[in-house]
Amino acid sequence: MATFSINLKDGSVEQPKPVIVGIDLGTTNSLVAYMKDGRSTCVKGKDGKSTLVPSIVHFAQNEEIIVGDAAKTKLETDPANTIYSVKRLMGKSFKDVREQQDFFGYQILDDDTDSLVKIRVKTRFYTPVELSALILKELKNRIENELGTAVSKAVITVPAYFNDNQRQATRDAGKLAGLDVLRIVNEPTAAALAYGLGNEEGRTETIAVYDLGGGTFDISILRIENGIFEVLSTNGDTFLGGDDFDRVIVDFWLKQLSAPHSSDGFMSSDEWIKNKEFGQQIRLLAEAAKKALSSVEVFEGELNGRKVSLTRATFEGLIEPFVRRTLDCCKNALRDAKLDVGQIDKVVMVGGSTRVPLVKKSVSGFFQKTVFDSLDPDEVVALGAAIQADILAGNQKDLLLLDVTPLSLGIETVGGLMDVIIPRNSKIPTKAGRQYTTSVDGQKNLKISVYQGERDLVEHNRKLGEFILKGIPPMPAGLPKIDIQFILNADGILFVRARELRSNLEQHIEIRPTYGISEEEMALMLLDSIQNAQTDMQSRSLLEARNEANNLLLSGDKFLQQHNEILSESEKATTQALLKALREATKGEDKDAIHRAIEELNEYTAPLAHRALDATIRQAMRGKKV
Ligand code: AMP
Repeated sequence: MATFSINLKDGSVEQPKPVIVGIDLGTTNSLVAYMKDGRSTCVKGKDGKSTLVPSIVHFAQNEEIIVGDAAKTKLETDPANTIYSVKRLMGKSFKDVREQQDFFGYQILDDDTDSLVKIRVKTRFYTPVELSALILKELKNRIENELGTAVSKAVITVPAYFNDNQRQATRDAGKLAGLDVLRIVNEPTAAALAYGLGNEEGRTETIAVYDLGGGTFDISILRIENGIFEVLSTNGDTFLGGDDFDRVIVDFWLKQLSAPHSSDGFMSSDEWIKNKEFGQQIRLLAEAAKKALSSVEVFEGELNGRKVSLTRATFEGLIEPFVRRTLDCCKNALRDAKLDVGQIDKVVMVGGSTRVPLVKKSVSGFFQKTVFDSLDPDEVVALGAAIQADILAGNQKDLLLLDVTPLSLGIETVGGLMDVIIPRNSKIPTKAGRQYTTSVDGQKNLKISVYQGERDLVEHNRKLGEFILKGIPPMPAGLPKIDIQFILNADGILFVRARELRSNLEQHIEIRPTYGISEEEMALMLLDSIQNAQTDMQSRSLLEARNEANNLLLSGDKFLQQHNEILSESEKATTQALLKALREATKGEDKDAIHRAIEELNEYTAPLAHRALDATIRQAMRGKKV
């Protein structure tokens, strides 16, 4: 039973020590783990069988969405509506994945090659973020069932080579699933944490993490110094793994079955493959054989009433080229890290395929070391993520807590635009600033309104507070230099300071940005910004065009007044007509029309401005000798 307490100040219900879970969001399988009685533990499904949730989502005819084992059974029967390997698409554009399109049995939308990929399921389109969120929700349900309480905070692991887009996409998926993602952790780092590596104070260790899963291979070289993990290099092959081992067994058996001496007028291997049901049967038997051969020397089975067998020695011969390829990647990773094999202190094994004895033996031989393999290789990353979560929960005191700000912080600028000063997901404590100026001659006061959110217009974001910088000395518009600094401290308190640099005038406020905002609201704000990105971009460019036009109209009027005598009547009339056209255009909604009017005005007045400048210089030089 969970304990709750009520905050008497604002009536909110609080859970004194929230559980922070660790999640391994994998390409083939995903897991969730937490600290149970001081030990990192992976959570099993309701049936109590497995800790693995296949990373597969199925969209049924009746709109039902199924995730995990039940969805896996639909891979063969309903491939178009069954989505797997979505992690391969995270943060990618169609251009990035065009070459690999054949790998996916479902439809990837080819609309605009530079925008992020979408997946078509029936009449709807899903982003990889939404699909990953469905897998994360399944994991969230799993842990909530286990604990009997709501869980809203998580640490999620990603491959060390994931770029910012891919990491951000993973965070967004967490948010959509109702999870506050406290930290994104590299998978090899989590694996090392699971083995308690890097805890010895004052020692620097270099660790190789060899991760061979179902469809991907990664090797990462890490350096751990005083609890800080640094990725020195990564290498691998995104299409190499246990599935290849299964495939070579299938090929081997097909050859056996259709060989002339063993055939009694049987089907050819091509015909075997075309038979879907048989294809599925033989693949499953091949995987069973592979798994069995990790502990026995000979496997014997039956296919359509015919006996098939495989010895470990034959199997090892079949997969040897793949294993060699992984070792080539290890060589490259060492070269990139500028290290010799002898400089690696420890080797950690991750991924289901490292159970294969030949893999273990080869890796151990390559690095000349006994490898770390006592933990379940499928669970090791999730176990480490739960340890990282425990560190963040403050239960492991000797480690530093680094946090991030969940939503962007900024101020309102001309036209109601949001100008972001601290982008979301910035590590805190952090500090950032920018210089602004006035938009009106002689402006004495400047209102600084502070907002939080991802939308381009402040009216759609959350206002945190405002203050007025009063008593700016009178100066023409654009001359005052107003420096605005945002300082977000480790407790999440935002300090905003505005200072006019010519007069040293200063004002500030203190705000707590996350005060009174729930995780759900935050998730909604984020979702809102994703859904409205297009309209936001349009309104932003329209407002920016109008701002530019208004500045030009002001200086245009000034120009006509100041240089009346050097302009001909027709020049004045044309300039006035162009100014009028621009003023009209700013009243409309068409940003291109505003840009066109700006261009026409600029083009016509450029030579006039040159002439005005020459006249001013001549005036200034009059009576002076050079
Ligand atoms: P992962 O992507 O880390 O979940 O790894 C899954 C891969 O590990 C699949 O190709 C499985 O067939 C493989 N695997 C699981 N158990 C064993 C085993 N006992 N021996 C060999 N391979 C295994």
